[in-house]
Amino acid sequence: MVTKIDHIGIAVANLDEALKFYEEVLGIKCVDTEVVEEQKVKTAFLPIGDTEVELLESTDKEGPIAKFIEKRGEGIQHIAYRVENIEKALEEVKAKGIRLIDEKPRKGAGGAKIAFLHPKSTFGVLIELCER
Ligand code: ZN
Repeated sequence: MVTKIDHIGIAVANLDEALKFYEEVLGIKCVDTEVVEEQKVKTAFLPIGDTEVELLESTDKEGPIAKFIEKRGEGIQHIAYRVENIEKALEEVKAKGIRLIDEKPRKGAGGAKIAFLHPKSTFGVLIELCER
């Protein structure tokens, strides 16, 4: 069903500081940043090979990334898998009894269509399905 790892979402407290590490130490260049109002998040995109690191900084202390950091600290927040048809993929996983966070796809960063699966159904990993 999934075709590749689309990106790895990493929650950071300070995007500029994190970018310094990724760019200056690891040598992965940020190609773009985007504020996704709906998710109260500022995202930086760092393509590497045929996948991408996405750094996520909350723009609001009530946002999901702020809450994640409060509870678990900075770190990997989600893994995004690429699918060809997200509506179909959601139907399939739902039919297999997997709990969904998003019943319907919503708009993610970079114009992607995304939907999250509940970590309680996925062995503790917040999984994003992503069509682009
Ligand atoms: Zn993502």
